[in-house]
Amino acid sequence: MEKIIREIPNTFDLPYRIKKLADLAHNLWWAWNPEAARMIKEIDPLLWERSHHNPVVFLRSVDPATYETLIKDRYFLGRYDRIMREFNAYMKPVDTWFSRAYPNLLDDEIAYFSFEYGLHESLMVYAGGLGVLSGDHLKESSDLGMPLVGVGFLYTYGYFSQRITEDGWQEARNVQIVYDDLPLIALYDENREPIKISVELPGRTVYARLYELNVGRVKLVLMQTNIPENNPNDRQLTDRLYTSDPELRISQEILLGIGGFRALKALGHNPSIYHMNEGHSAFLTLERTRELVRQGKTFDEAIDLVKRSSVFTTHTPVPAGNDEFPIWMVEKYFANLWPQLGLNREQFMDIARIKQDWGGEAFSMPKLALKLSNFRNGVSKIHGQVSKQMWHELWPDKPVDEVPITYITNGVHTRTWLARRLAILYRRYLGADWYDHIDDEEMWQRVDLIPDADLWRVRRHLKRKLVAYMVNRARDAWQAGSVHPVQTVASGVLLDPYALTIGFARRFATYKRANLVLTDVDRLLRIVTNPRKPVQIVFAGKAHPSDEPAKLLIQEVYRHVKDARFGGRLVFLDDYDMDMARYLVQGVDVWLNTPRRPREASGTSGQKAALNGTLNFSVLDGWWAEGYNGANGWAIGDSTVSDNQDEQDKADAESLYDTLENEIVPLYYTMRSADGLPGDWIERMKESIKTLTPRFSTTRMVKQYMNELYLPAIQSMEKESVQEKA
Ligand SMILES: *Cc1c(COP(=O)(O)O)cnc(C)c1O
Repeated sequence: MEKIIREIPNTFDLPYRIKKLADLAHNLWWAWNPEAARMIKEIDPLLWERSHHNPVVFLRSVDPATYETLIKDRYFLGRYDRIMREFNAYMKPVDTWFSRAYPNLLDDEIAYFSFEYGLHESLMVYAGGLGVLSGDHLKESSDLGMPLVGVGFLYTYGYFSQRITEDGWQEARNVQIVYDDLPLIALYDENREPIKISVELPGRTVYARLYELNVGRVKLVLMQTNIPENNPNDRQLTDRLYTSDPELRISQEILLGIGGFRALKALGHNPSIYHMNEGHSAFLTLERTRELVRQGKTFDEAIDLVKRSSVFTTHTPVPAGNDEFPIWMVEKYFANLWPQLGLNREQFMDIARIKQDWGGEAFSMPKLALKLSNFRNGVSKIHGQVSKQMWHELWPDKPVDEVPITYITNGVHTRTWLARRLAILYRRYLGADWYDHIDDEEMWQRVDLIPDADLWRVRRHLKRKLVAYMVNRARDAWQAGSVHPVQTVASGVLLDPYALTIGFARRFATYKRANLVLTDVDRLLRIVTNPRKPVQIVFAGKAHPSDEPAKLLIQEVYRHVKDARFGGRLVFLDDYDMDMARYLVQGVDVWLNTPRRPREASGTSGQKAALNGTLNFSVLDGWWAEGYNGANGWAIGDSTVSDNQDEQDKADAESLYDTLENEIVPLYYTMRSADGLPGDWIERMKESIKTLTPRFSTTRMVKQYMNELYLPAIQSMEKESVQEKA
């Protein structure tokens, strides 16, 4: 193994006494440790906002005089020393969940592959839910002490930034990522050459430079092709997330799967287990097979080894959403591979060939992943069942129930999404070590000990904070001079921080039915404008730039937002990202979700809401079908599914209005005479926090991945090596 030089490329003029702030800025640990984030922010709160919560940009821009003041501030230094001690202790743990549970497996590394990672709003290498799940998976793996390494892309442009025009049309703006602004670790070999890997594409070789990102104790390896070694086209390979150009897309997926495997090798990793988060990285299985055949295994032996050590998670509940390529294109890109595997063209294509509805054929990435992994899962109970049906054709001899796809329901990384003030309450009433027991359902019973008045005070604070956030954004946009007054009204300046507030924020896609709540405008008007019991709704979310129906949906919602009869109580916030998601899930009272069943594979934003005491009001799909217990939120409709979509929509809308009018609104506005608090609401809130936080945490989720998928995979590999020795 050659020597690897790891270097922080950024330099800061920090005084010696606090120079370790640079290390803190280069590890995302701070992003889920609110006291650390707060220490950085309070150096210069306005500059922190202007730097978009990016500590690298921030530390570079702080006035040197401010630093000089800080190193004379005993209060600040005390805080700095305490946080650095915590950080250092975290980075060199005595023991962790993993080291206690699996002391013999510390050398069995798990490689995690994903197209996108949502780690923080200052790192725009994510588009939405899949990315946030990957980011949360890494953070939790760090907390649990898992020997895990992530692989992904460093994009040139972040996912687009969204602006809504006066007439409700989504405009997409590309924002170039400035690498110098990111907390990247640059990697060099012993000759001080940047470490690169290459993959073969038709008629040429493409190179990618490697970087690392520190996610607590876990490393994320990122690849990037915008380097002089590549021709201008290939330099754009890692420009964007989710391009719709199929040749670009297949090239990206070759780089992710095949390049990612080579990147791990180049950096000295030798994982025991490979986890493919969605099918985008499935070419990984072919590269691993090729490597084993090159080492002298037969094709069948190689395939068997690859299967035993591969884990595949599918997230897509509909065939149309799956990733596939025309056969001719796969031929163009892989014709040199099948001889290396000892296969002919037909044998190769058969691995992942599927029939399309119109009779044609395609090469399916999820099929490739499913066939070359022995460990497969969907992301909720319902989605597991849907996946079994969807892929039944791969196991035609088995009854649907025995199709070997299990499920592990998604969760969220608690401390990333929890409001700081609630963390203080949890610490006081659940115990100082509550954070080490997040998946312990017993512990959460102690939520009952939190005095109602304290919990309610924090909740009111969080809603005021959300309203202040909206007003500040609206004022900035207004001052910048580019908006019409109606856009200012639409962005939340008329909201009442004490009225019942509903949040609906997610990617815009027609099946998510953002307009379900608008089905009967007159009825909604009566609900929203009730002078004694007003209701407000905040919408946010991006539509994929090529999804025209979803953009029309945004426009429809925006038309109602602008309707003066609603009095500014309907709001659309543009440019949804992780920062806004935090304000919303923490600040609103009710989290609304209205997908068409069974299209919501899991959903996670409602889980973020729940741990903050925000109540879910959702269709019984995805995670909510498992989470809802009758007393911890509300259901829209029941579990029956109508074949007639219009009828289903009508029934769901009816149910939504009924529950809103008869249960949710009265509950929120009914105060106990004893203390003037909405006692029944608070009771429901506590029930929600208690029952949902432990079960829908990544603590539960990552442990489950370890115990139910990674461990059996490791064990099946061990059996192999025993046989080999014998
Ligand atoms: C959590 C999150 C999502 C995913 O939410 P869903 O409920 O799964 O739709 C998408 N985007 C952002 C910015 C998020 O924080």
